[in-house]
Amino acid sequence: MSLNRYIGGPVQDPRLKKVYLIDPFDKFICNYSCRYCVLGRPLTDKCPISRYRFNMLIKGAKYYVEKYGVRGVNAFLISPYGEPTLLPELPQLLRTLKTFNKPVAIYTNSSGILDDKIYNLLLNFDIILFKLDTLYKDTLHSLNRPSDEIDPDEILSRLVRFRRDFPNKMYVETMFVRGYNDSFEEAMELISAIKRINPNKYFISMPYLPPGGDIRLPSRDTIDFVYRELSQYMPNRVFILDKPVEAPLNRKVDDPVEELLYIASLYPIRLEEAYRYLGSFGMDGEVTVKELLDLGDIEVRVWMGEEYIVSMTLSRMIKN
Ligand code: SF4
Repeated sequence: MSLNRYIGGPVQDPRLKKVYLIDPFDKFICNYSCRYCVLGRPLTDKCPISRYRFNMLIKGAKYYVEKYGVRGVNAFLISPYGEPTLLPELPQLLRTLKTFNKPVAIYTNSSGILDDKIYNLLLNFDIILFKLDTLYKDTLHSLNRPSDEIDPDEILSRLVRFRRDFPNKMYVETMFVRGYNDSFEEAMELISAIKRINPNKYFISMPYLPPGGDIRLPSRDTIDFVYRELSQYMPNRVFILDKPVEAPLNRKVDDPVEELLYIASLYPIRLEEAYRYLGSFGMDGEVTVKELLDLGDIEVRVWMGEEYIVSMTLSRMIKN
């Protein structure tokens, strides 16, 4: 069976290790439009999941759990491919995933915690990764581009309160981007915010996949400074994510080309990795990739000296 469209894995997530990915989105929905987002620009910030998709999601999750089991899997991770707190069906989804007796994790851009209902719902998760890129309103609006006015100070006070209320694992991540939030001034604000929140883990992240626009890697001096300062305060709980991870290409599929296109629609795949993957099925990677390029299904983009495949077939990849 090929990777279905609702659940994938188990795959290696850089923060949570082995997870099942749950993908409730049939289009790219987010109320932010971060300049570094590898998914491009969201199609909308309001769109409930369809009943059909929701049912298929639950069926797909049950099927995967029965077929592949949950041994060694750390969590069910609700999609990083959009903003899941916008989904009205999130409470039902959480309830169902909880029945598999594994932690349920979610990645969020943090805007949802300003809403009391979402705040209370998030308290029921086992692991949450919150995004906090800046404490400056201007930077938030130029880097994350929220669809509504958002005050980062309010987000910070909610995160501080949430840490007190939440008994489970709370992680925070900052994506540093050159010219937006990598000045020492921004870094000092972030350091003091992270100290106030005191999350279980803090991830310093940087764009290592090809996004659109003017995105560049942040100053290494700033990254090292943040790492040093926070590691003293919270030893062994600060991590730098600066390496591309292997794309979660499933090697137990009937149709590796379909799988490649699907994963490329979620995020870019290094060309070399795509060749290796196709080669492991006895295919000539270069010939297959050339065919897909000729068909217009994929595009190859160069980023930081590496070539990546991005999919042109699914609506999720909207070019910036
Ligand atoms: S990076 Fe996350 S929060 Fe930003 S636009 Fe993409 S999905 Fe939304």
